[in-house]
Amino acid sequence: MKHQLLYILCLLNIGFVNAQVFDVETIKRSGDNNKRINLVLLSEGYQTSEFSKFITDATSFSNAMFTQSPFKEYADYFNVFAIKVPSNQSGTDHPANATDVTEPVFPAATLDTYFNTSFDTSGYHRLLYTYNSAKVYNVLANNFPEYDQPIILVNSPEYGGAGGPYAVSSTGTSANEIVIHELGHSLFNLKDEYYPGDGNLNEATNATQESNPALVKWKNWMGIDAINIYPYGSSGESATWNRPHQSCKMRYLGFDFCSVCQEGIIEKIHSLVSPIDSYLPASNTVNPTAYPIDFELNLIKPIPNTLKNTWTLNASNFANDVDNISIAENDLNTGTNDLTVVVHDDSPMLKIDNHETTHVYSVTWTITKSALGIDDISSKQNDFNISLFPNPSNNILNLKVEGKSAASLKVDIISLDGKRLQSTKISNYENNKIDISRLSQGMYLANVYLNNMLLTSKRFVKN
Ligand SMILES: [Zn+2]
Repeated sequence: MKHQLLYILCLLNIGFVNAQVFDVETIKRSGDNNKRINLVLLSEGYQTSEFSKFITDATSFSNAMFTQSPFKEYADYFNVFAIKVPSNQSGTDHPANATDVTEPVFPAATLDTYFNTSFDTSGYHRLLYTYNSAKVYNVLANNFPEYDQPIILVNSPEYGGAGGPYAVSSTGTSANEIVIHELGHSLFNLKDEYYPGDGNLNEATNATQESNPALVKWKNWMGIDAINIYPYGSSGESATWNRPHQSCKMRYLGFDFCSVCQEGIIEKIHSLVSPIDSYLPASNTVNPTAYPIDFELNLIKPIPNTLKNTWTLNASNFANDVDNISIAENDLNTGTNDLTVVVHDDSPMLKIDNHETTHVYSVTWTITKSALGIDDISSKQNDFNISLFPNPSNNILNLKVEGKSAASLKVDIISLDGKRLQSTKISNYENNKIDISRLSQGMYLANVYLNNMLLTSKRFVKN
């Protein structure tokens, strides 16, 4: 993935800070940096002589992360790298001025380290952080501009860490668990499921003030995997906030992420990385005479593979759930032919049906056949985000499709016994208001089509 911001920061820094180039070591490589989520660990409080310990610590974190759900299922969506940033002294600062404990919890120290991290941030003893973000982003810009998530690994045996734009963790007790929890904040926008104090919660994947089981954002998980609506506390502001589980990793280290958090993490992975790694023919292939024509998808597959795909040739289903197809001469019409494959993730770890974004990925090839042979094949990849809200709905259903395609889109409302009740043309990037006032109460499907090809099918309830 690429960060525009970084290039800007990089430009701003030219002339002010010398570009420092450090060794970058690959800890885990799944594929092209532009098609993966790149986790980048930066060493802090490691002297040059301790770099082999840093690589051991970074590898230990990576191994721990990818044995846990949903990272073990989506391991091939991530790369992990380690930047060896040298510090003059080993360890990190401890001012011993925290107000939430009786200090000194361990001896005070003021050390010369590269990012100047410190315990006792904002008066919280275990809050290990650095406000020197310019230095962090400068190191990233000069050494690994394709980063998605920086993680500062602090060479200290004491317990501590923090979330924020970059995650920070010590290498002490529960270090790997701290990093994974902090990544829940930093990369996946999850909230703590212990009460973080008044004013510190807002609406998120795993925190809400909605207490109606029919409307809560995790309503499709209610009663499954111990998901329910649990108030954070019993009085005051804490009683107005709800979490989905009682023992998620966002509450207690050493536990798994709850199903709602896992779903949120997978949705974020899908918003960052297309499961279509590459495809053939890649584009604008002129291939005048050869038949059959082979088409191939290279997918980044979850483990086990939960991706489903549908191949459609000229609006007719051609094949399902295969990565390769061959098209014979007599499969094609003279003139223009459209071949499209639509890919989506059918993982049972995803139960989203509304208010959220459904990720649908497609590749379309346009094959021009003349009387003499194939004139041209051109290809185009599209990623669609499709949202439907509110659900349940009374009279107007809002449908938003975001994708680069200029092709025609429509939505059909289908009853559960398969009858098409209405069909409406919709526009890309607009909030399409579908009038459902004449439907009777009950459950329906909204099928969204691109050029008569089903992109997605979403359930909704008419009240
Ligand atoms: Zn959770």
